[in-house]
Amino acid sequence: MNLLARSLVFGLAFVALSLGRIPAGMADEKDGRLDIYFIDVEGGAATLFITPAGESLLIDSGYPDNGGRDLNRILKVLRDVAGRKHLDHASVSHWHLDHYGNHAALASQITINNFWDRGVPEKLSEDPSFPERAAKYRAASQNKSKTLKVGDKIPLKSGTTPLELKTVTASGEVLPNSGENNPFVGENKPQPDDPTDNAQSVSLLLSFGKFRFLTCGDLTWNVEAKLVTPKNPIGKVDLFMVTHHGLNVSNNPTLVRAIDPRVTVMCNGPEKGGNPETLQTLRQVKSLQAQFQLHRNVKLPDSEQTPAEFIANSSDTPDCKGVYVKATIAADGKSYTVQIGPDGKVHKFETRS
Ligand SMILES: [Zn+2]
Repeated sequence: MNLLARSLVFGLAFVALSLGRIPAGMADEKDGRLDIYFIDVEGGAATLFITPAGESLLIDSGYPDNGGRDLNRILKVLRDVAGRKHLDHASVSHWHLDHYGNHAALASQITINNFWDRGVPEKLSEDPSFPERAAKYRAASQNKSKTLKVGDKIPLKSGTTPLELKTVTASGEVLPNSGENNPFVGENKPQPDDPTDNAQSVSLLLSFGKFRFLTCGDLTWNVEAKLVTPKNPIGKVDLFMVTHHGLNVSNNPTLVRAIDPRVTVMCNGPEKGGNPETLQTLRQVKSLQAQFQLHRNVKLPDSEQTPAEFIANSSDTPDCKGVYVKATIAADGKSYTVQIGPDGKVHKFETRS
């Protein structure tokens, strides 16, 4: 090969490498991994998925206002960390402001291809300003949001490892009761029925190969019990997003112990969620190996929360840097890692078989 040919080959190889280069730790179409970012929105929820096919899905969007705090945190993770310019899917678990607070604002800054929710009610008894806010959401979605009912799947492209996202509760309805008997039915001490939209939350079960992840929005106690009584149609899961920021009107041990997660992530705030009763329930989960929290609960002693190395943010809201928790599921779905922020210690777990 003469000098000119050699320079040409070298040059082409360099261009190919540069084009293919992505920031370290970012999932993309070629590596086959699934990334889940639990974005810190100070006691709301905003969970971003980047699939092996490169599709993006955001479940919930944090609080509005606060100088665009949550909006900017979501955009930062989406654009700067995950390297995406748009959202393929944006879903709402239920109609409380800490969950759909930024859907309209996001739509004014980026393209959102598909909106998903439990249906948009005309009004909400607990929020007199709901009709006004819902009008903004409807406008942002151009009145084309799709209603999720139990059994519905949000369509995501699968690669060699099958990927599925299925609705298991919505608008108070639950999956048909099938599966094995739930040995924790006796743990249920019913609470007064919850008249708020929390009880109507959309819960989603994600499967990626054998890996399984459950997120239930702010689903409350009696509907949790209804889902897994007397049989458990969910089965066991690997990763569980602790429900309703870790509040004790959710996280019924009848559900939490039945799904027996190995790892949990709690999207709590400095003074919201992370109740001691929920921690007690998590401590009783047989297979639990690690419990992550987005925040240290500043009102509780260290003994009543997870150890500091599993807490993403320790300071109160004004000083909070909004560090996320990230789960990455291997391309074959057989193992996964969880870490705090981009540089946190990488904790590795095996998917249950
Ligand atoms: Zn909430």
